Amino acid sequence: MSSSTPEKMFRLDGRRAFITGGAGGIGRAAVLMFAAFGADVAIFDRDVDAGRAVADEVMAKGGVAAAYGLDVTDEASVLDAFAEAEHKSGGLDVLVNNAGISIRKPSTELALEDWNKVIAVNLTGMFLCSRTAARSWLSRRVMGTVVNTASIMSYSGGGLHPNISYQSAKAAVVNLTRTLAVEWASAGIRVNAVAPTWVRTPLIDHLMNDPVQMEKICQLTPMRRLAEPEEVASAMIFLAGGASSMTTGHVLAVDGGYLAM
Ligand code: NAD
Repeated sequence: MSSSTPEKMFRLDGRRAFITGGAGGIGRAAVLMFAAFGADVAIFDRDVDAGRAVADEVMAKGGVAAAYGLDVTDEASVLDAFAEAEHKSGGLDVLVNNAGISIRKPSTELALEDWNKVIAVNLTGMFLCSRTAARSWLSRRVMGTVVNTASIMSYSGGGLHPNISYQSAKAAVVNLTRTLAVEWASAGIRVNAVAPTWVRTPLIDHLMNDPVQMEKICQLTPMRRLAEPEEVASAMIFLAGGASSMTTGHVLAVDGGYLAM
């Protein structure tokens, strides 16, 4: 059980959080919020310049953050970034597996290369980063937490356009979350996920620029709007810290009621 007092249950003071895809969109919002809740944040992103800009934002507000270039699909790159960040911060307590891409095409037109790219970033990268974090936690007897970014598309074969590789990878993220949660529970390591609806980020620029698609999103969503990145980040804060100390293997929808339909 968390030993925090109630008002500190959501705080992450002294925790070292590594956030993949932290340079943009939901990841950037998570970096800023984790730092505001007291965490020392490592931004892991293939776009290291954008990551540095987010780290500067954190530091300008008095927080602690550093950016590392990493490709979550590349094992050597993952191992190097974790080693460097752990060396600098003295360890790791929270991993947020958030990097993701989408290649939307009818399934009959999707090249194998594109299928492989999406599976590699959205699923294999999550495995590689989780495995690296857990090896460190198990060897040091640290009760770390993992928060994965799934999606409402983890549960849906629908959506606004064909997106087979993304939807397949995100569905697998749900069972990766459950499987690792069960495997590592006895060591005190918790693994959970968030499942956001459409969120106002560059990933869905093409939809946000199309009033017809925006209208469809509003029709599909009981709350009749997109989510803001901060609304996903706050769910991550809950899952990362002491407030969720008995929760593992769970996927928390941040979806304005989409999955309740
Ligand atoms: P985004 O495109 O704004 O940000 C994604 C970040 O991941 C970028 O900073 C990018 O540089 C980084 N990234 C991509 N490939 C990488 C790689 N191989 N290695 C390291 N970093 C990499 O997207 P977002 O909307 O913020 O998406 C974040 C997560 O949320 C993704 O997993 C996405 O699938 C999920 N999600 C997004 C939405 C949405 O509507 N925006 C909805 C549900 C789930």
